[in-house]
Parts: sequence; C-alpha cells; structure tokens
Amino acid sequence: MRTAIVVGAGIGGVTAAVALERCGWQVTVLERAPELGEVGAGISVWPGAAGVLAEFGVDGVRKDAAAGAAVGMRRPDGRLVVEGLDLGVEMPVMIHRARLHELIVDALGDAVTIRTGITVAEVSQNVAGVTVRGIPRDAAGGSQYEEFTADLVVAADGIRSIMRATQPRYSGYTAYRGIADVEVTEGGGETWGRGQRFGFARLIDGRIYWYATLNRPAGQPGDPRADVIAAFSNWHDPIPLLLDKTEKVLQNDIYDLKTPLTPFVDGRIVLLGDAAHAMTPNLGRGACSAIEDAGALARHLREAPDLDTALSRYDGERRPVTTKLVKRSRAIGTLGQLDNALLCAARDGLLGLAGKAASLRGKRRRVEQSRV
Ligand SMILES: Cc1cc2nc3c(=O)[nH]c(=O)nc-3n(C[C@H](O)[C@H](O)[C@H](O)COP(=O)(O)OP(=O)(O)OC[C@H]3O[C@@H](n4cnc5c(N)ncnc54)[C@H](O)[C@@H]3O)c2cc1C
Repeated sequence: MRTAIVVGAGIGGVTAAVALERCGWQVTVLERAPELGEVGAGISVWPGAAGVLAEFGVDGVRKDAAAGAAVGMRRPDGRLVVEGLDLGVEMPVMIHRARLHELIVDALGDAVTIRTGITVAEVSQNVAGVTVRGIPRDAAGGSQYEEFTADLVVAADGIRSIMRATQPRYSGYTAYRGIADVEVTEGGGETWGRGQRFGFARLIDGRIYWYATLNRPAGQPGDPRADVIAAFSNWHDPIPLLLDKTEKVLQNDIYDLKTPLTPFVDGRIVLLGDAAHAMTPNLGRGACSAIEDAGALARHLREAPDLDTALSRYDGERRPVTTKLVKRSRAIGTLGQLDNALLCAARDGLLGLAGKAASLRGKRRRVEQSRV
C-alpha cells in the first residue's frame, strides 16, 4: 500500500487525507495543535468544493449549511449601491467552519492515523521516499525528534508552510469575524465604506456570521471587539446590533502569496491549500480551493501511470486556476479598501452600473437554462 504523510489538519489537510484514503493510500496526518478542530466563524462553500466533498462521502454539508442567497451591496448609511444580484449561477452555501471540519473528519476511515501535538520541523527526500521529522509537544527541550517515512508528503501546513520558500505579503488590512446570537430580518450582504467593509450572512441555526475589514498596519495590538465596535458604530442597521450581540471576535491580519505562484511540487513533496496558494478572503474561496486541490490530487494519483506524472498534472491543473483566484481576490480587496472619498464615490458608481449589467446577464442565463 502506498503511504502519505499530510502535514497540517486544517480543512485542506483533512480533506487531503480523506481523498488519499479513498484512492487506496495509507495516510498519517501530523498536526501541531494539541487537538483537532477549527476556530473561526462561518465559511462559504462553493458548489465545486461541495461536489468534491460529496464525491468522497463527506455528507451533511448541504444539510448543515444555509442556502446561498443573492445579496446586495450598500454604503455605510444603508443606501443601496448594488441590488441583490441573481447572477444565474449556483451560490455558495454558508456553514460554521468547525462543523465543516468535523464533517470531513467524520468521513476519515481506518487507513488514516491522526497525530496531534506534533510540529513538523524538517522534511528530506531521496528516490526511495520522504522522511519527516516532527517534534512532539511533550518533548523536553524540543530536541527529541520523531521520524516518519512515506512515499509522499502533502504539505497542508497553511500560509507559513515550512515547505515553501516564499514569504507571505501583507495586504494592508486586517479582518474581524464573529457570530452574532441574534435574529435579523435582513438576509445579508456587504457594505463598503472608506478603508473598511462589513458583510454578514445567516447560518442554518438562524445566527448571523459577520466579517469586517479595516486598513491597518500588520501586527498592531488591540482589543478586537472594542476596535471593530468603534469602527462600525455609526454604520447602518443591523451592523451595530450584530457587533453588540457578538461575544467573541476573531482578528486576522490578511496576507496572501505573490503571483506568479511558485511550483506546487518538489519531488515527492506537494503543496496544498494555503501552503500552495494563500489568497485574501475576498472571494471566500481559500478553503474551497484547498478542497478542490485534494480532489484533483486524488484524481491524478488514480489516473496517472506513475507518481511523478500525477504530481506534475496536479501542478499543471491547480497552479493556473489558483493563481487567477489569488490575483482576483487581491484586486477586489484593493478596490474594497480604497479610502479616498473621490475614488470611493467613483468606485460605488461604477459598481452600481456593473451590478445592473451583471443582473441582466444573470436573467438571460436563467432564461437560457429554463429552455434546456
Ligand atoms: C477572515 C477570513 C475569512 C475566510 N472566509 C473563507 C470562506 O468563506 N470560504 C473559503 O473557502 N475560505 C475562506 N477563508 C480562507 C480559509 O480560511 C483558508 O484558505 C483555509 O482555512 C486554508 O486551509 P488549509 O488547511 O490550507 O490551512 P490552515 O487552515 O492554515 O491549516 C494549516 C494547519 O497546519 C498546521 N500546521 C502548521 N504548521 C505546522 C507544522 N510545522 N507541523 C504540523 N502542523 C502544522 C496548523 O496548526 C493548521 O492546523 C477565509 C480566511 C479568512 C482569514
């Protein structure tokens, strides 16, 4: 049986483990955190990623997710910039991030071993295979390595992957997320201001997942809840209420990787998820892309005549697609975080026009679909 080590048990890592197991591999997942799980709030799951999960028998994503809706865009005073758009395409569903992770972990079979509390420190390879050296959490002085060997290593260790040479770059803004324990009548949407944005969507249990961004240097200390309440206190309803009804606010400075992205494959080491293509969250596609990576990797491993061909096909398929997403996501962030009053007014005007055109295209697409 072929063997793989997956480094990192985030959404990308556990999906890779399911995917490899389904095509007959024996998998060991090494995770530095003491326990499995995901922090975070809501997450959008696009149809492509939901399809990959369904293919691997990860059930329940649709059952536990709120259906995606056409949402509009507003100014901070509540005036509409773009009405709720029906783009004529299937929208993402919204699910709690911890629940998504749990559903994937529940689908893991007996051929997957998960070791938490192991920080991978070194990876070396030769023609025979790959050796991974990890430091167990309880190792005194961090000097007692544990060694693991396999045919393949999947680096799903996130944006600061130890298996990628390039450094992440800061986007210029920080993001806040939370879940508000309150029912509101509005379905959701985004509001763009000057150097700050706010968005929200309903989860299946009726609570509201919200996210916000603020232009700010990286690494500034602060109280995330107090900072976000202060920044959005005079924005339209229900934004102040959502913040008031949120107990825990998460904050992440937003980084991505420079394009062109560097190769996802180095011999028997393959990058997946944020380790390969960390993107800003503006398209809500980072985790979805990690899931799609896992689907593509498994397909090429099944279909290619040998490992080298499979990995080269994986890189050839996934690098161009995700490079485009990294670029588009960054461009949307740059537009959304503009803080010059004149530029923001011009942006909002253009987005209003673009929204109308997109809505017309969506209606046409629906009519064409109904004819088929
Ligand atoms: C504000 C925000 C909103 C987002 N919204 C969405 C959304 O709606 N939809 C979407 O698809 N994406 C979204 N994303 C992106 C998404 O969160 C990431 O793309 C996704 O979590 C990446 O998953 P991953 O498994 O590749 O990496 P990670 O989630 O970073 O997991 C990496 C794992 O590796 C472990 N690890 C790291 N180093 C080591 C080591 N040396 N040894 C062992 N273990 C290690 C870590 O502990 C971690 O568990 C959002 C991101 C942000 C910041």
